[in-house]
Amino acid sequence: MQVSGKVLVCDSIDQAGIDSMKRAGLAVDYKPEIKPAELVSSVKDYDVIVVRSKTKVTKEVVDAAARAKIIARVGVGLDNVDVKAAEAKKIRIINAPEAASTAVAELAIGLMISLARSIPRADAETKKGNWIKNDLMGTQLSGKYLGIVGVGNIGRNVGRLAKALRMNLIGYDPYPINREFISETGMIVTDLNTLLESADFVTCHVPATPETKHMFNAERFAKMKPTAYLINTSRGEIIDENALYEALKNGKIASAALDVFEVEPPTNKQLLSLPNLICMPHVGAQTKEAQELASTVIAEKVIQTLRGVI
Ligand code: NAD
Repeated sequence: MQVSGKVLVCDSIDQAGIDSMKRAGLAVDYKPEIKPAELVSSVKDYDVIVVRSKTKVTKEVVDAAARAKIIARVGVGLDNVDVKAAEAKKIRIINAPEAASTAVAELAIGLMISLARSIPRADAETKKGNWIKNDLMGTQLSGKYLGIVGVGNIGRNVGRLAKALRMNLIGYDPYPINREFISETGMIVTDLNTLLESADFVTCHVPATPETKHMFNAERFAKMKPTAYLINTSRGEIIDENALYEALKNGKIASAALDVFEVEPPTNKQLLSLPNLICMPHVGAQTKEAQELASTVIAEKVIQTLRGVI
């Protein structure tokens, strides 16, 4: 069954979803470079607004979206959408919560190994002609305790991969954790402070909420082992970056790897200058497979919603 309507795609998304929406009968305007002012002035003409993470769907945008039926986020978090404003106007919000979970989990494992074996530094120094072998005593992952903070889709995927590396899992989540996952992996479920005191590696997979803002602060870093490694591929706001700077500089923890920052691109020059910090430009979901899946899942949900099926 064909559907009708106009779709505005505001961020760059995989072509597969655009093609599906067009095949279903939708008129799709692809404007990945659209500026906030143009979005506010043109959004009134569209039934569906599709964004990734760059475009902010503010209250102003929602208020101007006179005929919008759907706001679609090609990804997980809805922190760039004013959900309250959209719900007040009865606009459906859809997202693709599981599409990126394999990609982000693989990046978290990659960062963990990069920290344990100083891969970025080793690469940079070798290419400069410096043979720093004696400085590069690493740490094995096998047998170590991995603390997973937030045991949702991505946290569980990281856990399964870490089990294959023969790590022991400790988990903290204020909500019930999937029972099958616990029995499959032998995860020890505990409170956050115990996890921080016990883990050799800590990986964060929580949403950005008022409760998680700066959940990693000076007090929490003080609880961690001085040999601990921290990985954050979730949201920048969960870490107090000034406290992380002090913790890394003063040896409260060994090193950290961040895919996400409080402000993106990051502006905290002091933090970025540290040798025991690995930085990535928010690329957790940036694989061909994850982007194609997210785009096709969103296209299908848009079509089914307009058909009234879901
Ligand atoms: P999810 O909803 O499946 O899992 C999040 C888990 O965090 C849930 O189990 C929830 O109960 C738990 N949680 C909520 N509040 C908590 C708290 N205060 N303390 C501990 N746990 C808490 O989400 P997901 O798909 O696993 O995504 C996790 C995070 O990864 C999100 O922040 C998401 O935005 C981020 N993400 C990042 C990228 C990237 O490019 N780096 C890509 C996709 C997702």
